[in-house]
Amino acid sequence: MDLANKRVLVVGLGRSGVASALFLQAHGAKVTVSDSKPEAQLREEIPVLLDHGIAVETGRHGERTFQNQDLIVVSPGVPIDAQPLVQARALGETVIGEVELAAEFLAGPVVAITGSNGKTTTTTLVGEILAKSGMKTLVGGNIGTPAISLVEKATPETTIVLEVSSFQLETIRTFRPKVAAVLNVTPDHLDRHRTFEAYAAAKARVFENQQEQDFALLNADDPTCVSMAASIKAQVFWFNRKREVDQGAFVRQGTVHLRRDGMEHEVMPVSEIPLKGAHNVENVLAAICTAELMGCRPESIRAAVREFKAVEHRLQYVATVRGVEYYNDSKATNVDATIKALESFPGKIHLILGGKDKGSDYTVLNGLLRERVKFVYTIGAAAEKIQKHIAGATKIVSSGAMDNAVAQATANAQPGDIVLLAPACASFDQFQNYEHRGRVFKELVLALPK
Ligand code: ADP
Repeated sequence: MDLANKRVLVVGLGRSGVASALFLQAHGAKVTVSDSKPEAQLREEIPVLLDHGIAVETGRHGERTFQNQDLIVVSPGVPIDAQPLVQARALGETVIGEVELAAEFLAGPVVAITGSNGKTTTTTLVGEILAKSGMKTLVGGNIGTPAISLVEKATPETTIVLEVSSFQLETIRTFRPKVAAVLNVTPDHLDRHRTFEAYAAAKARVFENQQEQDFALLNADDPTCVSMAASIKAQVFWFNRKREVDQGAFVRQGTVHLRRDGMEHEVMPVSEIPLKGAHNVENVLAAICTAELMGCRPESIRAAVREFKAVEHRLQYVATVRGVEYYNDSKATNVDATIKALESFPGKIHLILGGKDKGSDYTVLNGLLRERVKFVYTIGAAAEKIQKHIAGATKIVSSGAMDNAVAQATANAQPGDIVLLAPACASFDQFQNYEHRGRVFKELVLALPK
């Protein structure tokens, strides 16, 4: 892609938007950025862009701004059916996302990991296994460092491990991973994708440019993943925690096995996996299979998995105070992640639930609430809806805010109980983001009298 003197518009000034604008400018494009947020909310971003000679529009998306552009790069936070983008496409302009832009410039192999839950854990682990195996590796995407920022650091020998979201996949065109994995598909982000089918279709796009020499990895225990296999051109591999698979990673008698083209070998005992929860066994199986497909040896795979630590805010152990264990799963921003967190403990759970609702159905929690949860403490804007959905399943305390929730849970908990933040909601009603929510929870816990 030749960018010299091209007119390029970057829409949305998140981390990846800023990185894209700077990249495009450095490659000779004439860049404009447009964000509907007011200037006052973009104080950090704007000076950097202006310093580089980039034109900045804030507080609106002007109609003229979107006209006569050679390329429009849209951020994952901007819906693809936003009116100015619909119009731009109708005028024949090319609209892509930042992952696609990066893909056009990345020379080395790409591993792409998507799914409703487990992306960050699995992506981080794959990165660590590849690095442990001596491969030049860079990790990024939805996880932190935008893919476009990896381009300058990568050589043709570097393997790029990317976490990709459904929003990022909606705007690809040529993006073609060597290994692409869909970990699971459960309802999430329905406020933006509208239907489950549209959401699943966006995830399946990770496979759309793959060829026969590439690999697709799917969860054999997830019906939506299973239904994706028929239209995949790459070689399909599977992971499954409960049953054996013909091609891929599975557990037999407590040991992880890999099977490929009729050959089979042991990788490691499940008991050596240092993460809590059956869902993390699935993440590890996916990471192991990905590493095998990228040519890693079983000894390096095993060593890297054994050393792996839970990523912050993902079912992260915080402390034990007066015999009560506290876990921070602030990243449980949807109902399925909360279910997985509840399944990780046999019972005696005090669960903090709530935040900003994403159109979720909380009634599906009721079975586990009945079975394993002593009290639910509701916080945030979704509290009322949650209370209606889970009424009768367990005792509910209306805490309102995190400090009350931690204090009330601590007052109710007996030694041997678990206090779990796995809120099943987004955080933006009371916190900057889920990291902020998790940090506030941890600070409250660490300040409890011992
Ligand atoms: P993502 O990047 O997809 O959000 P994370 O690894 O950050 O995934 O985990 C997000 C949340 O989902 C955490 O609450 C975690 O405990 C839970 N989780 C992790 N892996 C899985 C899985 N395979 N299935 C369901 N839930 C999971």
